[in-house]
Amino acid sequence: MAHVPLRLLILGAHPDDAEYHAGGLASIYRRLGHTVRIVSMTNGQAGHFERPPEQVATMRRSEAAAAGAVIGAEYVTWDFPDGELTADLATRHQVIREIRRFAPDLVLTHRPYDYHPDHRAAGQLVQDATYLVTVPNVLRDDPPALSRDPVVAYMPDLFTKPCPLEADIVLDVTDQVDTIVRMLACHQTQVFEWLAFQEGLLQQVPADPQQRLEWLLGWYRRHSLPRANRFRADLIDAFGEQRGREIECCEVFELSQYAASADLPTRQRLFPSAVCRPPRSSAAATPAHDIPSTDHPP
Ligand SMILES: [Zn+2]
Repeated sequence: MAHVPLRLLILGAHPDDAEYHAGGLASIYRRLGHTVRIVSMTNGQAGHFERPPEQVATMRRSEAAAAGAVIGAEYVTWDFPDGELTADLATRHQVIREIRRFAPDLVLTHRPYDYHPDHRAAGQLVQDATYLVTVPNVLRDDPPALSRDPVVAYMPDLFTKPCPLEADIVLDVTDQVDTIVRMLACHQTQVFEWLAFQEGLLQQVPADPQQRLEWLLGWYRRHSLPRANRFRADLIDAFGEQRGREIECCEVFELSQYAASADLPTRQRLFPSAVCRPPRSSAAATPAHDIPSTDHPP
């Protein structure tokens, strides 16, 4: 059978969200010859302590494009102002058009439970757009409706209220760390300026490009460990006691109930190299509130 490339669309709120939360999966996709498109829904203009917003937006647009080029992915930055993304109708329509045009097999986004209002809005917008992407009378033929919803999954976060993220998919990204760090390093105004400033690390950032990469590797590893520790039980479950305890860098994903359902073979196809849990509702009697076997009730 001919190799049919999968299509991954990451709809993040800011330029750098995709690589920080899902750079490992994106690089695995590209290595396997699949297609990856990354969208930052906002222009990222708020991400600095001294550069003016217009300059930050311009710089972050090219930083994002460069990060995409590291793995051969298209990285698009929309014009919505950073810090002002809302789940309104006009933005929903833009998300519907984006999903219809790209026709992804898999969409990744934020959960609507998050510290950042732009992340919450992004998650809500994707939730509002799915299903409607299949309805021809919504934005009639502009572009044409899809024949089916994509599978949607949430990128990892550590928030617990109203509910913690459930790791349906567990991915050890140890082998992808260097690529993730090279992608993150493209976001110079962020990792070497704004985030370093916010964390009080500005004086530590080396001037030499190679030393900067090594410093960023340490930064990424430090920030990855709390994620690995939060999902430690899932890592042990997926990789066994010894390896599960060793892993320091992982990505986990929760499948959205509000888009296409994905059985175990579909999950394994959409998340290559990952350990996938079977759908929860098929493990036992289906609770009354769960979505039944058809994707959407009338
Ligand atoms: Zn963000």
